[in-house]
Amino acid sequence: MADTLYLKQMECGPMQNYVYLIGDPATRQAAVVDPAWEVERIVQTAQQDGYTLTKVLITHTHQDHTGGEIFGHYIPGVVELLELIDVPVYVHKTETHILKNIPPSSKVSTENNQVIALGGDVQITLLHTPGHTPGHESLLVHLPKTGWLVLSGDAAHFKDNWDNKRVASMNTSADQTQASYQKIADVMAQKKAALWINHDLQQSQGQKHAPQFYD
Ligand SMILES: [Zn+2]
Repeated sequence: MADTLYLKQMECGPMQNYVYLIGDPATRQAAVVDPAWEVERIVQTAQQDGYTLTKVLITHTHQDHTGGEIFGHYIPGVVELLELIDVPVYVHKTETHILKNIPPSSKVSTENNQVIALGGDVQITLLHTPGHTPGHESLLVHLPKTGWLVLSGDAAHFKDNWDNKRVASMNTSADQTQASYQKIADVMAQKKAALWINHDLQQSQGQKHAPQFYD
């Protein structure tokens, strides 16, 4: 297990999307999770902190997390990011085909429990947590000072959903959502992990954002 890790949370766009930069301080390599809305700022932020973005990790392929057309509005995302930096994009195997306008050679299909490394000891474990979408993934990371974290993407969408085990109306499967809630709860119990829910403004307001970061 790595003895240091860098995690920066950036609020991007108007929909309370939280983009995460996860870096290995030993190798200065970082992964960006769900890059969308403000692609240049994401790249600049990593650069300013002395990190090279070497991987894109996607929790799921909705446009507010990856870019694309939504409600007649175009959101910049992975396509624009790849114009700035040439890095592989990791997506669960059931959603790889949904990412459009990205060369097949840039896509990496992922599996449940796949471990992503950043050139050193820092590891990110991908937990397949379907329900919101068929290929939704949550990320499990360990921060030496902060402890274990589950970055749950849109597995719950809001803390209120999580607390009440409620299924968001846009989810593709209620049964899978409940099973993923249980899977996340089991991991949290096992690791004494905290849960970070994307889109939850209230939870996020109590957290550090760029330029601050967790370690
Ligand atoms: Zn979503």
